Amino acid sequence: MIAAKKCPKCGFAADTDFSDCPKCGVIVSKYLQRKKELKEFEKSEAKEIRNTLERLNNAQSLVIKQKKEWGEILTGFETRNKYNIMDGWGNQVFEAEEESGSLATILARFFLTYLRPFTMSIFSADGNELFTLKRPFRFYFHELDIYESGGVLLGKIKRRFALLRRIYAVMDRNDREIFQIFGPILRPWTFLIKKNDQEQGKIVKKWSGLGKEIFTDADNFGINFPKALDANQKAVFLGALFLIDFVHFEKKQN
Ligand SMILES: [Zn+2]
Repeated sequence: MIAAKKCPKCGFAADTDFSDCPKCGVIVSKYLQRKKELKEFEKSEAKEIRNTLERLNNAQSLVIKQKKEWGEILTGFETRNKYNIMDGWGNQVFEAEEESGSLATILARFFLTYLRPFTMSIFSADGNELFTLKRPFRFYFHELDIYESGGVLLGKIKRRFALLRRIYAVMDRNDREIFQIFGPILRPWTFLIKKNDQEQGKIVKKWSGLGKEIFTDADNFGINFPKALDANQKAVFLGALFLIDFVHFEKKQN
């Protein structure tokens, strides 16, 4: 039994040692133990987040697979989208999940389908939230904002006007355009990531770059990142991928 002259919870001080605080009643040993456990838990959580971001830092490509739920397949009723995000070897790195939200969200999902505004979170394997994607309602100039879990803006994706073309701008947190994403007319499944008209990477639907096929590859997305991006910048491109999925592919399923 640990005893103290000063309560670690309320600060009450006495002349003699006590094992439970005469003022707030806390049991000193239990309180200290719980505090220690909490600290260790926070430490392991921080470590897991660091490891996940490190894997994103090192990943040159990722595969994104939408999780289809049986209820949705059977009823045809659109539920919130969920995705597995894997590295090039098929190991899961993240999970992404659309927020369930209110009745208004559910109605929007039903009536606005691919135009619906949404909030999506990207989690580590242990369920720690790392990034948040927010899509406001737009009819044509589709937009998506990418935030760190703490709420700091990392970047934005904005659709540009172009006749018969699919062009998006990738903006940094200061609203400077740093990349363009360009969908060639004759390659409906491909979006090229460009800088100064040079191809730097790409986003592809129906990705089949995996050694082993999971379920069916028709719903898979793959992304090849431009070189020398950090984890936060890659998260912005994940946002682009989800926006493109909603705008160009979700409506075609209905
Ligand atoms: Zn006390």
